[in-house]
Amino acid sequence: MSSKVVMVLCDGLGDAPARDRMGFLEHLVEEQAATRYTSRAVLPTTSRPNYESLHTGVAPLEHGIVSNFIVRESKLPNVFSLATAAGLTTAAVGYQWFSEMYHRSPYDRIGHSEYDDGDAGITHGRFYMSEDQPDAEVVIAAVLMAQRHAPSYVLTHTMGIDHAGHLHGRGSDDYNQAVTNLDMILALAIPALLELGYSVLVTADHGHDDHKYHGGTGDDVRDVPMYCIRPNGGGNGVQPDVLSHLQVAPTLCHALGIEPAPTMRAEPFAW
Ligand SMILES: [Zn+2]
Repeated sequence: MSSKVVMVLCDGLGDAPARDRMGFLEHLVEEQAATRYTSRAVLPTTSRPNYESLHTGVAPLEHGIVSNFIVRESKLPNVFSLATAAGLTTAAVGYQWFSEMYHRSPYDRIGHSEYDDGDAGITHGRFYMSEDQPDAEVVIAAVLMAQRHAPSYVLTHTMGIDHAGHLHGRGSDDYNQAVTNLDMILALAIPALLELGYSVLVTADHGHDDHKYHGGTGDDVRDVPMYCIRPNGGGNGVQPDVLSHLQVAPTLCHALGIEPAPTMRAEPFAW
Protein backbone atom coordinates (compact mmCIF):
# COMPACT_ATOMS: atom_id res chain seq x y z
CA MET A 1 0.00 0.00 0.00
CA SER A 2 1.45 3.34 -0.98
CA SER A 3 1.49 6.35 1.25
CA LYS A 4 2.72 9.91 1.32
CA VAL A 5 5.86 10.25 3.41
CA VAL A 6 7.60 13.06 5.28
CA MET A 7 11.18 12.38 6.32
CA VAL A 8 12.47 14.75 8.99
CA LEU A 9 16.26 14.73 8.83
CA CYS A 10 17.58 16.27 12.05
CA ASP A 11 21.16 17.19 11.23
CA GLY A 12 23.58 16.14 13.98
CA LEU A 13 21.08 14.30 16.21
CA GLY A 14 22.63 11.29 17.92
CA ASP A 15 20.68 8.26 19.11
CA ALA A 16 21.26 8.75 22.84
CA PRO A 17 20.45 12.50 22.90
CA ALA A 18 17.21 11.78 21.05
CA ARG A 19 16.26 9.10 23.56
CA ASP A 20 17.13 11.36 26.50
CA ARG A 21 15.75 14.67 25.24
CA MET A 22 12.85 14.08 22.81
CA GLY A 23 9.95 13.58 25.17
CA PHE A 24 7.17 13.81 22.59
CA LEU A 25 8.65 11.26 20.21
CA GLU A 26 9.55 8.93 23.07
CA HIS A 27 6.00 9.26 24.38
CA LEU A 28 4.70 7.98 21.03
CA VAL A 29 7.14 5.07 21.31
CA GLU A 30 6.17 4.33 24.91
CA GLU A 31 2.49 4.29 23.94
CA GLN A 32 3.18 1.99 20.94
CA ALA A 33 2.05 4.79 18.61
CA ALA A 34 5.47 4.82 16.91
CA THR A 35 8.22 2.35 16.08
CA ARG A 36 11.76 3.23 17.10
CA TYR A 37 14.97 1.82 15.70
CA THR A 38 18.60 2.82 15.88
CA SER A 39 20.11 3.38 12.45
CA ARG A 40 23.83 3.28 11.62
CA ALA A 41 25.17 6.20 9.59
CA VAL A 42 27.65 5.50 6.79
CA LEU A 43 31.28 6.58 6.95
CA PRO A 44 32.46 9.24 6.91
CA THR A 45 29.89 10.55 9.38
CA THR A 46 29.57 13.85 7.59
CA SER A 47 26.51 15.33 5.96
CA ARG A 48 26.80 15.04 2.19
CA PRO A 49 27.91 11.37 2.18
CA ASN A 50 24.98 10.49 4.44
CA TYR A 51 22.42 12.60 2.55
CA GLU A 52 23.39 10.70 -0.59
CA SER A 53 23.40 7.26 1.06
CA LEU A 54 19.99 7.93 2.66
CA HIS A 55 18.52 8.84 -0.74
CA THR A 56 20.33 6.38 -3.04
CA GLY A 57 20.73 3.39 -0.73
CA VAL A 58 24.40 2.88 -1.63
CA ALA A 59 27.64 3.39 0.27
CA PRO A 60 29.84 6.45 -0.31
CA LEU A 61 32.53 4.40 -2.07
CA GLU A 62 29.94 3.58 -4.73
CA HIS A 63 28.07 6.91 -4.99
CA GLY A 64 31.31 8.86 -4.85
CA ILE A 65 30.29 11.61 -2.45
CA VAL A 66 32.90 10.72 0.17
CA SER A 67 33.34 14.27 1.47
CA ASN A 68 31.38 17.44 2.09
CA PHE A 69 33.80 19.03 -0.39
CA ILE A 70 32.38 17.05 -3.30
CA VAL A 71 29.73 19.43 -4.59
CA ARG A 72 27.65 18.07 -7.43
CA GLU A 73 24.33 16.57 -8.41
CA SER A 74 23.65 12.95 -7.52
CA LYS A 75 24.59 10.62 -10.37
CA LEU A 76 22.55 7.65 -9.16
CA PRO A 77 18.83 6.86 -9.04
CA ASN A 78 17.56 8.37 -5.81
CA VAL A 79 14.25 8.79 -4.01
CA PHE A 80 13.62 12.20 -5.59
CA SER A 81 14.43 11.15 -9.16
CA LEU A 82 12.55 7.85 -8.93
CA ALA A 83 9.45 9.50 -7.45
CA THR A 84 9.25 12.21 -10.09
CA ALA A 85 9.95 9.70 -12.88
CA ALA A 86 6.96 7.74 -11.58
CA GLY A 87 4.75 10.84 -11.89
CA LEU A 88 4.75 11.74 -8.19
CA THR A 89 5.64 15.16 -6.84
CA THR A 90 8.31 15.80 -4.22
CA ALA A 91 9.31 18.63 -1.93
CA ALA A 92 12.32 19.62 0.12
CA VAL A 93 12.75 22.25 2.80
CA GLY A 94 16.39 22.23 3.75
CA TYR A 95 19.93 23.47 3.47
CA GLN A 96 21.06 24.46 -0.02
CA TRP A 97 23.16 21.29 -0.31
CA PHE A 98 19.99 19.33 -1.05
CA SER A 99 19.25 21.60 -3.98
CA GLU A 100 22.80 21.05 -5.25
CA MET A 101 22.41 17.29 -4.99
CA TYR A 102 18.84 16.68 -6.19
CA HIS A 103 17.86 19.78 -8.20
CA ARG A 104 20.67 21.81 -9.80
CA SER A 105 24.35 22.46 -9.15
CA PRO A 106 25.80 25.04 -8.84
CA TYR A 107 23.30 26.59 -6.47
CA ASP A 108 21.73 29.86 -7.58
CA ARG A 109 21.18 31.77 -4.33
CA ILE A 110 18.15 33.60 -5.68
CA GLY A 111 16.72 31.40 -8.39
CA HIS A 112 16.96 28.13 -6.50
CA SER A 113 15.91 29.31 -3.05
CA GLU A 114 12.18 28.90 -3.68
CA TYR A 115 10.33 27.28 -6.56
CA ASP A 116 7.25 25.16 -7.27
CA ASP A 117 7.93 23.96 -10.78
CA GLY A 118 11.11 21.95 -10.47
CA ASP A 119 11.65 19.75 -13.50
CA ALA A 120 14.33 17.58 -11.91
CA GLY A 121 14.03 15.58 -8.72
CA ILE A 122 12.59 18.16 -6.35
CA THR A 123 9.25 19.60 -7.50
CA HIS A 124 8.79 22.13 -4.69
CA GLY A 125 11.92 23.57 -3.12
CA ARG A 126 12.53 25.90 -0.15
CA PHE A 127 16.22 26.21 0.66
CA TYR A 128 18.20 28.20 3.20
CA MET A 129 21.85 29.20 3.22
CA SER A 130 22.55 29.86 6.90
CA GLU A 131 23.38 27.08 9.34
CA ASP A 132 21.51 28.90 12.12
CA GLN A 133 18.18 28.79 10.29
CA PRO A 134 15.56 28.30 13.06
CA ASP A 135 14.23 24.73 13.12
CA ALA A 136 10.69 25.95 13.83
CA GLU A 137 10.60 27.89 10.56
CA VAL A 138 11.89 24.90 8.61
CA VAL A 139 9.36 22.49 10.09
CA ILE A 140 6.43 24.87 9.70
CA ALA A 141 7.38 25.57 6.07
CA ALA A 142 7.30 21.82 5.44
CA VAL A 143 3.87 21.43 7.02
CA LEU A 144 2.55 24.32 4.90
CA MET A 145 4.08 22.68 1.82
CA ALA A 146 2.24 19.46 2.66
CA GLN A 147 -1.03 21.32 3.22
CA ARG A 148 -0.79 23.39 0.03
CA HIS A 149 0.77 21.01 -2.48
CA ALA A 150 0.36 17.50 -1.03
CA PRO A 151 3.66 16.18 -2.46
CA SER A 152 4.15 12.43 -2.14
CA TYR A 153 7.58 12.83 -0.55
CA VAL A 154 8.60 15.75 1.66
CA LEU A 155 12.15 16.04 2.97
CA THR A 156 12.38 18.32 6.01
CA HIS A 157 15.95 19.10 6.98
CA THR A 158 16.75 20.99 10.19
CA MET A 159 20.21 22.22 11.22
CA GLY A 160 19.69 23.71 14.66
CA ILE A 161 21.04 20.67 16.53
CA ASP A 162 24.16 20.34 14.37
CA HIS A 163 24.82 24.07 14.68
CA ALA A 164 24.57 23.90 18.50
CA GLY A 165 26.85 20.86 18.49
CA HIS A 166 29.57 22.65 16.53
CA LEU A 167 29.40 25.75 18.71
CA HIS A 168 28.96 24.21 22.15
CA GLY A 169 29.49 20.45 21.94
CA ARG A 170 27.42 17.35 22.46
CA GLY A 171 25.99 17.30 25.97
CA SER A 172 26.14 21.10 26.32
CA ASP A 173 23.06 22.96 27.50
CA ASP A 174 22.71 24.50 24.04
CA TYR A 175 22.87 21.15 22.22
CA ASN A 176 20.39 19.52 24.60
CA GLN A 177 18.04 22.48 24.36
CA ALA A 178 18.17 22.35 20.56
CA VAL A 179 17.16 18.66 20.68
CA THR A 180 14.21 19.32 22.96
CA ASN A 181 13.16 22.43 21.04
CA LEU A 182 12.92 20.42 17.84
CA ASP A 183 10.89 17.75 19.66
CA MET A 184 8.45 20.44 20.79
CA ILE A 185 8.02 21.71 17.23
CA LEU A 186 7.52 18.16 15.98
CA ALA A 187 4.79 17.73 18.61
CA LEU A 188 2.88 20.37 16.65
CA ALA A 189 3.89 19.25 13.17
CA ILE A 190 3.51 15.48 13.34
CA PRO A 191 -0.20 15.42 14.30
CA ALA A 192 -0.87 17.93 11.49
CA LEU A 193 0.98 15.71 9.00
CA LEU A 194 -0.78 12.54 10.18
CA GLU A 195 -4.07 14.37 9.71
CA LEU A 196 -3.11 14.92 6.06
CA GLY A 197 -2.45 11.20 5.66
CA TYR A 198 1.35 11.33 5.79
CA SER A 199 3.57 8.74 7.35
CA VAL A 200 6.48 10.40 9.15
CA LEU A 201 10.07 9.23 9.62
CA VAL A 202 12.34 11.17 11.98
CA THR A 203 16.04 10.41 11.71
CA ALA A 204 19.46 12.07 11.35
CA ASP A 205 22.47 12.06 9.07
CA HIS A 206 24.95 11.55 11.93
CA GLY A 207 25.41 12.39 15.61
CA HIS A 208 27.99 14.55 17.38
CA ASP A 209 31.14 13.74 19.33
CA ASP A 210 32.79 15.27 22.39
CA HIS A 211 34.92 17.58 20.28
CA LYS A 212 32.19 19.72 18.69
CA TYR A 213 32.48 17.64 15.54
CA HIS A 214 31.61 14.49 13.66
CA GLY A 215 33.11 12.58 10.77
CA GLY A 216 34.72 9.69 12.64
CA THR A 217 33.67 6.19 13.55
CA GLY A 218 32.43 6.21 17.17
CA ASP A 219 28.96 5.12 18.20
CA ASP A 220 28.17 8.70 19.23
CA VAL A 221 28.43 9.83 15.61
CA ARG A 222 27.29 6.62 13.87
CA ASP A 223 24.16 5.74 15.82
CA VAL A 224 21.12 7.90 15.18
CA PRO A 225 17.41 7.41 15.87
CA MET A 226 14.79 6.25 13.38
CA TYR A 227 11.28 7.04 14.58
CA CYS A 228 8.46 5.77 12.35
CA ILE A 229 4.95 7.13 12.78
CA ARG A 230 1.95 6.08 10.73
CA PRO A 231 -1.35 7.90 10.25
CA ASN A 232 -3.28 4.94 11.63
CA GLY A 233 -1.60 5.48 15.00
CA GLY A 234 -0.12 2.00 15.18
CA GLY A 235 3.47 1.35 16.21
CA ASN A 236 5.67 -1.36 17.63
CA GLY A 237 7.62 0.58 20.24
CA VAL A 238 11.35 0.05 20.65
CA GLN A 239 12.86 -2.43 18.21
CA PRO A 240 16.16 -4.15 19.03
CA ASP A 241 17.36 -4.29 15.40
CA VAL A 242 20.01 -1.85 14.32
CA LEU A 243 19.25 -0.60 10.83
CA SER A 244 21.68 0.64 8.21
CA HIS A 245 21.20 4.00 6.51
CA LEU A 246 21.39 2.03 3.25
CA GLN A 247 17.95 0.56 4.06
CA VAL A 248 16.24 3.94 4.09
CA ALA A 249 16.00 4.62 0.33
CA PRO A 250 14.40 1.26 -0.55
CA THR A 251 12.08 1.66 2.45
CA LEU A 252 10.97 5.09 1.21
CA CYS A 253 10.39 3.69 -2.30
CA HIS A 254 8.37 0.85 -0.86
CA ALA A 255 6.25 3.28 1.17
CA LEU A 256 5.71 5.55 -1.83
CA GLY A 257 4.62 2.59 -3.95
CA ILE A 258 7.48 2.89 -6.45
CA GLU A 259 10.03 0.31 -7.51
CA PRO A 260 13.43 0.71 -5.81
CA ALA A 261 16.36 1.10 -8.22
CA PRO A 262 18.49 -2.02 -8.84
CA THR A 263 21.34 -0.18 -7.09
CA MET A 264 19.27 -0.13 -3.86
CA ARG A 265 20.33 -3.57 -2.69
CA ALA A 266 19.54 -3.33 1.03
CA GLU A 267 16.31 -4.76 2.40
CA PRO A 268 13.54 -2.32 3.31
CA PHE A 269 12.74 -2.33 7.01
CA ALA A 270 9.31 -2.93 8.54
CA TRP A 271 7.52 0.00 10.18
ZN1 LIG B 1 27.93 19.27 11.26
